[in-house]
Amino acid sequence: MKKDKTEIIQNMLSANEFNIIAGPCTIESRDSLDEIAAALHTMGINILRGGIYKMRTSPHTFRGLGDIALSYLKEIGEKYGMVTVSECIETDKIEIMSEYVDVLLVGTRSMHNYPMLERLGRIKNPIILKRGMSATYKEWQLAAEYIVESGNSNVILCERGIRTFETHTRNTLDMASIPAIKEITKFPIYIDPSHSTGKRDYIKPMTWAAVAAGANGVMIETNVCPDKSLCDAEQSITLDELKSIIEPINEIRRLLYS
Ligand code: PEP
Ligand code: MN
Repeated sequence: MKKDKTEIIQNMLSANEFNIIAGPCTIESRDSLDEIAAALHTMGINILRGGIYKMRTSPHTFRGLGDIALSYLKEIGEKYGMVTVSECIETDKIEIMSEYVDVLLVGTRSMHNYPMLERLGRIKNPIILKRGMSATYKEWQLAAEYIVESGNSNVILCERGIRTFETHTRNTLDMASIPAIKEITKFPIYIDPSHSTGKRDYIKPMTWAAVAAGANGVMIETNVCPDKSLCDAEQSITLDELKSIIEPINEIRRLLYS
C-alpha cells in the first residue's frame, strides 16, 4: 500500500522502524535523478537522497549542481511520492532548502557548526545529523541538543564512520554506536555504510550487520551506472545490488526482533 509523506516521515523518526534512504551521492542531472528515483520507487523505496551542495575535500572536484538541483529534487520527489533528503552546508541556505527538501542532512564536517545547528532548530523539517568524523558519542549527542533546544526535536543520528589508524576502509564504521546511541539518547540511529567504508563490496555485509544490531535505518549511495558517478563512484552500488541487500531485511528483523 502506498504511504503518504507524513507516514514515511513518522516511520523515519520512529525508534521501532527500519528505513532505507537511497539515491546518488550528488544530483548530476534532472533526468538521471528521475531514472534512479523511478527504479527506487518500483523497488518500494520511498526516501530519496541526492546531494545539491557538496562539501568536497578538494575544491577541484565536482561540488554539485547547486541551486538548480533544488527544483529537480522537489519535482522528482513529488512525482514518485518520495520523501527527499539533501545536505545543508551553510546557514544562508536553510530557509530555501526547508521549502524544497523534506529532510535536511548535516554532514560530518558540519556537526560542529553550532550556529547552523541552532538555525536548523528553528525549522520544522526533520534533520539527519551525521557524526563528526572525530566526535565522541557525547559530543554528537550535544550537537543534536543544539537543534532540539532551538525548537526542532525531529532529529535522527547517522553514524558515518570515524577516523582511525586504519586506511583500508575510507573510515571505520563504529557499529557499537547503535546500542550506545539507543542507550544514551532517544534519537533514531541510522548507519551510512557508503561513506563509512568507501567500498561498494562492503555495503551489503555492513547493512545486514546494522539491521542485526538494531539500527533504525541505512543511507546507501546508489546510482544507475555507479562507475560513472561524478562523486564517490567507488562506494556507489547498482540498483540490482541494492535490491539484493534490502530483500532479507524484514526477515532478519523478524528473526531477531519479533
Ligand atoms: C553525504 O552523505 O552526502 C556526505 C557528504 O557524507 P559525510 O558528511 O558523512 O561525508
Ligand atoms: Mn558521497
